[in-house]
Amino acid sequence: MKKQIAIVGNGTAGLQLGYSLKQEFDVTLFHHPTADEIQNGRILSTQVHFPPTREREERFAMPKWESAPPIRNIHVTIGDKKLFIGKLYGTASSVDQRWAFPHAMRDLEKQGVSLREGRVSQADVTRLVNEFNLVIDATGKSGPLAPFPIDNKLSPFDKPQRKCIVGYFKGVDPVYPAGISITVLPGVGEMFEISALTENGLVTILFIEAVPNGDLDAFKGVKSTDVFAERIADTVRLFFPDIHRRIDGRKFALVDEKAWLQTAFTPVIRRPYLILDGKLIVSCGDSVFLNDPITGQGCNTASFCAEKLYETLMDYRQSSNWDERLGEDYWNRTRPYIQAVTEWTNAMMGPLPESIIQTFLQGAEDQSVADQVAAWFNDPRKAHAAFFPDAVRHE
Ligand SMILES: Cc1cc2nc3c(=O)[nH]c(=O)nc-3n(C[C@H](O)[C@H](O)[C@H](O)COP(=O)(O)OP(=O)(O)OC[C@H]3O[C@@H](n4cnc5c(N)ncnc54)[C@H](O)[C@@H]3O)c2cc1C
Repeated sequence: MKKQIAIVGNGTAGLQLGYSLKQEFDVTLFHHPTADEIQNGRILSTQVHFPPTREREERFAMPKWESAPPIRNIHVTIGDKKLFIGKLYGTASSVDQRWAFPHAMRDLEKQGVSLREGRVSQADVTRLVNEFNLVIDATGKSGPLAPFPIDNKLSPFDKPQRKCIVGYFKGVDPVYPAGISITVLPGVGEMFEISALTENGLVTILFIEAVPNGDLDAFKGVKSTDVFAERIADTVRLFFPDIHRRIDGRKFALVDEKAWLQTAFTPVIRRPYLILDGKLIVSCGDSVFLNDPITGQGCNTASFCAEKLYETLMDYRQSSNWDERLGEDYWNRTRPYIQAVTEWTNAMMGPLPESIIQTFLQGAEDQSVADQVAAWFNDPRKAHAAFFPDAVRHE
């Protein structure tokens, strides 16, 4: 008989795990809310999937989104100076999670995965660990459902370092050549401009990372869609003239009523396994690896770790007892990556080191350096090596 696995959470991690594990195991996906509620709900992310994540989606035969606008370049501006356009190796893309998640949930159900709707509580988890051979907590940043221990070395903050302010807009001409445009305003925050696919067509995402109480932190108390859109237009006019020039004032509007969000959270990294009621429980994605979105790596980290968890479970599929050793093995396979992405992401929120500023300036003169910076987003271990050249690496 196939081993039974419960995946709690229907986001980036839970869905990739569903696709990868469904052949070898009997998979049940617990989700909340329903697919329809997600589809008609508020935006969740800016969700850029960099090429390695798209390769993993291909590996596990996940749905393809051919009409998503290709993201092949990273445009970098510091202050009011456009420095360079680095070329990505491969093509990234962003598809509204409100569309991608329900689509994948319905597709998985057609392919034989059991879906169970309802918010799983901490008490339910104790029941589930006895009902299934393994419970995977993939509840995202509203998790975790069990007390996975905090990794203090990788969790230096006790409060949010940025306020995240996001809207999906019509009426902005995309940057050329197609890509993500990053503008860093030192000490104040960042703006990310991303072309994305939604159910209502192509949009330009404007994503502000505001240093709390700084000049970009101008959205406190905003509750209505109209006020939010006006406030974004004002902020762009004042701080981001290049984007302002590409806005058509007659067409500039949110793509739908719920195409905006404001959030802020404290980054925290946890060891992704523990023994609960004598049984192993593991976790994957934001529930244990929660970083600020400044480097656009949350989905990519969730996908990387979901693949490592899949590979670990495949290696242990014949063993009768899934215990702490499996959890430890999974953590050993993921920890170097988690350390790299976390330390890089945290460093991006402080004053940039002089060596990195020099790299950015060189990027303006030398295309190969600009391309190396773009490559950081494909593989955060390369970014980590640039930020921390003296670090001892375990891979
Ligand atoms: C503003 C912003 C911009 C971002 N931009 C990017 C980006 O460009 N690129 C990138 O890679 N990452 C980005 N991220 C991060 C990325 O969205 C997340 O890291 C990623 O979605 C995490 O995947 P996950 O599967 O862990 O969690 P999620 O995708 O959040 O999925 C968790 C799912 O579990 C469900 N759930 C939660 N609790 C329960 C429960 N108790 N019972 C049942 N179901 C439950 C939730 O409803 C949700 O559907 C961004 C995040 C934010 C906030």
